[in-house]
Amino acid sequence: MVKCYYCNTTIPAGEVKRCGRCRLVTYCSKNCQTISWKASHKANCRPHPSLLLPNGGVRSDKPAKGTDERLQLDIDMALSSWLAKWRTVFQINTTLALDFAHNPPDYGVTHCLYLIVEPLEEDLAKCKKYRLVEASIASVADLDAKFPEFGGIVDDTNDTLRVRFVLQLRDMPEYGCTPLRMRRVQWSDLNILRFRDGPKGDGAADKFSEFHKLDPQTGEPIWAVMLKHAVETMEAEEATRKYGMARG
Ligand SMILES: [Zn+2]
Ligand SMILES: [Zn+2]
Repeated sequence: MVKCYYCNTTIPAGEVKRCGRCRLVTYCSKNCQTISWKASHKANCRPHPSLLLPNGGVRSDKPAKGTDERLQLDIDMALSSWLAKWRTVFQINTTLALDFAHNPPDYGVTHCLYLIVEPLEEDLAKCKKYRLVEASIASVADLDAKFPEFGGIVDDTNDTLRVRFVLQLRDMPEYGCTPLRMRRVQWSDLNILRFRDGPKGDGAADKFSEFHKLDPQTGEPIWAVMLKHAVETMEAEEATRKYGMARG
């Protein structure tokens, strides 16, 4: 179940279009691709280092099989395919975890959901299953300091309706990737207004207060425990349905 990066609709199998440059983001139509490129993807399109040419251009063919460049690219593509399936669940969790009812109005600019995954299959280049080893709220300043090569996680610090999550594969020095590239997924979420400006007490904001309590066993917030459990035990489609219903 792959979704359009721009309009968020589910794309029927066989009709998936990809950004020809980074090959990471997917679209339902040429139209969405064009609008998305002009609106924001132009600034955010980051091709894999293995695809970059010395002159700054992007190669249209893949590096030869058996080379390290190809392995790195395939590992990244496998992660992207998995992320495309889980994206909606992570998006819903981002808004939930950032708890706009009880944090400053610009919390989505200063903080994001931070996910670290590890592959559950031997062959990283074909891996279809990953486990969440960390799910937490991170300070954008800390992540920017940790990953300067990413070039800044937040583009527009005035846009407080835009939220984001960052996902990365855990350090795997045995594969020469420490760490593999991060993914930053960002979008505008009007639900923030419901939580931020809505009635306190028994409004939408408080519907989720139980998710922010700490789990006595792990010391993590309940939402993180639930998310890890969902990724470990459910298929992406099932989890997307459940999380979609919970948000209402
Ligand atoms: Zn679309
Ligand atoms: Zn792109």
